[in-house]
Amino acid sequence: MKQDDCIFCKIVAGEIPSQTLYEDEKFKVILDVGPATRGHALILPKNHYANLYELPEEDAAEAMKLAKRMMIKMTEKLNCDGFNIVQNNGEVAGQTVFHFHMHLIPRYKNDGEILKYVAGEPDQEELAQIRKMITE
Ligand code: 5GP
Ligand code: ZN
Repeated sequence: MKQDDCIFCKIVAGEIPSQTLYEDEKFKVILDVGPATRGHALILPKNHYANLYELPEEDAAEAMKLAKRMMIKMTEKLNCDGFNIVQNNGEVAGQTVFHFHMHLIPRYKNDGEILKYVAGEPDQEELAQIRKMITE
């Protein structure tokens, strides 16, 4: 499964060069060209799925297993102090390339506020309403 105008499909096919950290029959892990920190990498499934909504559950499970393995190896090799796994779905959520991917972002002491959000202050009633919306 490949989409002609997709940059990550072209990377997977080797039509666009990338710094590859890992590859198997289902996934490729590459360095991000616009890294948030040193070693920022991306897990790409070789098949084209636009986002996590489209990715089959089985592949999602495998992607997370691979993320864990890569995180352990990269932490050891890069000597980072922590790690973020980030995965954006939809333009409003910050997705810019519409081929599912997971960001592997090594974190270092004093590397700045890369993924900061402001915590809301909902009351219990609002939280209860949201719970109802999701679960009923
Ligand atoms: P998103 O914002 O969709 O979650 O993340 C897309 C990521 O892909 C960005 O971090 C961006 O730097 C990276 N990216 C975009 N084009 C290329 C490319 O041609 N090669 C590589 N290695 N990364 C890319
Ligand atoms: Zn693609």
